[in-house]
Amino acid sequence: MGEFGALLGADGPLAEAVPGFESRREQQEMADWVGEALLEQSVLAVEAGTGTGKTFAYLVPALLSGRHVIVSTGTRTLQDQLYHRDLPMLARALGRPVRVALLKGRSNYLCRHRLALAGHVGSLPGFEVPSARSLKRIQRWAGLTRSGDVAEVTGVRDDDPVWPVVTSTRDNCLGLECPEYARCHVVAARREAQAADIVVVNHHLLLADLALKDEGFGELLPGTEAVILDEAHQVPDIAAQFFGLNVGSRQGVALVRDTLAELARTGHLGEPLRERLHAIEGAFAQALACLGSPRERIEWAALPDAFIEALHTAQSALHLLVEALAGTGSDDSGLRQCLRRAETLAENLQRMLGFAAEEGIRWVEVAGRGFTLGFSPFEVADRLRELMAARPCAWIFTSATLAVGEDFTHFLGRIGAIEARTLRVASPFDFERQALLYLPRGLPDPSDRAHTTAVLATALPLVEAADGRTFLLFTSHRALKEAARLLRGRTGFEQRYPLLVQGEAPRESLLRRFRELEHAVLLGTASFWEGVDVRGTALAVVVIDKLPFASPDDPLLKARLEGIRRAGGNPFYDHQLPQAVLALKQGFGRLIRDREDFGVVAICDPRLRSRSYGRLFVGSLPPARVVDEGEEAAAFLRRRLAEAGAAARALGTA
Ligand code: SF4
Repeated sequence: MGEFGALLGADGPLAEAVPGFESRREQQEMADWVGEALLEQSVLAVEAGTGTGKTFAYLVPALLSGRHVIVSTGTRTLQDQLYHRDLPMLARALGRPVRVALLKGRSNYLCRHRLALAGHVGSLPGFEVPSARSLKRIQRWAGLTRSGDVAEVTGVRDDDPVWPVVTSTRDNCLGLECPEYARCHVVAARREAQAADIVVVNHHLLLADLALKDEGFGELLPGTEAVILDEAHQVPDIAAQFFGLNVGSRQGVALVRDTLAELARTGHLGEPLRERLHAIEGAFAQALACLGSPRERIEWAALPDAFIEALHTAQSALHLLVEALAGTGSDDSGLRQCLRRAETLAENLQRMLGFAAEEGIRWVEVAGRGFTLGFSPFEVADRLRELMAARPCAWIFTSATLAVGEDFTHFLGRIGAIEARTLRVASPFDFERQALLYLPRGLPDPSDRAHTTAVLATALPLVEAADGRTFLLFTSHRALKEAARLLRGRTGFEQRYPLLVQGEAPRESLLRRFRELEHAVLLGTASFWEGVDVRGTALAVVVIDKLPFASPDDPLLKARLEGIRRAGGNPFYDHQLPQAVLALKQGFGRLIRDREDFGVVAICDPRLRSRSYGRLFVGSLPPARVVDEGEEAAAFLRRRLAEAGAAARALGTA
């Protein structure tokens, strides 16, 4: 056992100082590997099974290394847990006072300059400030806040259109020329992060920073000696978003609004400029009208000609605005910034219109009252490799799902680090005792219309045996809706088992109710396959309808598959299959979150038995006992629930 592992041992300082601490061999092993990678500044990928305690395994060496470390997470929940709970607790236990900062993307901080501008927008005839009530609330809070973190504001919804008006982007920030620079919350948060020993960020901010995109600051990494990425399985997909190009109609609308405000503030707003601004707004509105209602990503080739024409019109209108703004002769910093933004937007539109098919894939997404044009390169691995090589420090990737079987090649290939060291630490849970993997026989093919009905027929005896306590996880919204309809059509079902259906309430409130109700049945799709933690007896059954192969219609996936084909690879075996294996591991991982948890995972996809790749899926899952009889699975549930009830009664907790 090495130096770091020893600290996590039964006689170590954490055993004494951390309530409920349990020493785990797997955690100790991981801590030693992470410690070594930190010292050697090498690249390491660690798959740590559920229950390993991987956050302590990387935070302990990070705290003791004395290095400037960035810890990046995939979710806000984990970011908050590390910053508010784990880091202060470990620093106290280890007697290592360190400076820790939590840094969020720009859009999370109030921009004082833009807040002041919002007042000018409001005074323009015919120009409405989104929700004057929200703006007033924010103005009151702005006088009181110390951090400027918009999470402090209550009573203004996350999707209120006021937020882009009072927060900044890299694009519209005036930087050193800003009159509010000395009091700027973004600058203050960034300074605090630069002075800290450990900075907690999320993958979006880290990758935006690496790729010098809007949300980022472009200054996070200089001086960093280690980057630890938890929930790292999400990194390649997030990187694909940042290494491409995105141009949104909202950028055009925001530019028009900000330029109007700056022109009004500086006394330059005349009719000709107003007309040019309206021409830009009109061109984006015309483009939006060609797309119809909100829907999934639309491939470029399927776009109507009128849409492309409207984009060309917007581009020309932007050039005219640039000329007109230059014609004012003003050297006001706000106006100059608007001019630069108009130039950049025109340039990006031109790039978007000009990409060649062999460079990557383009698409359009319609959401709310706007659209986004997207471009994604075929492969991001080379870019990630270059960025890591340009910052020679320790890069540590960890997650509960990185390997397919024992093999990390798929993940390492996607992040461009094929030569990285790898470690797999198994979960300390006793899966053979705690879980059953039920693979029912005789189910129809997943493409068969009767498949969802058959999934429910498989699930119902388990729901009864477990008295609710079930997650039904689907790979499509269509199947989820059909299942909800069928279950609601069963007399008395909902009276016995409260039905919680994704889309009918926010995700967090569905999960809270599921935990409280104890006998509920929850129906969810992709967003419930990962990051969901229900411990104890509230969850005893997870039914998965199909193997989670991603939809081949998604343009981003198409781009990746095409990239693999061009490089001479096999898209199915090199990408779709390993991705589906990792997704299934995530889905399975919902069941057993603790040493005392138990239950059944049922996978209703006959391809697990009929196709040769089925063995790869089963072999990658935790070592639960496999059964093919529903009665055996139901009996297991009844027995384990009766034992848990008896144990709770003996302890006086039931
Ligand atoms: S420096 Fe940028 S973010 Fe800060 S107040 Fe000025 S414009 Fe806003």
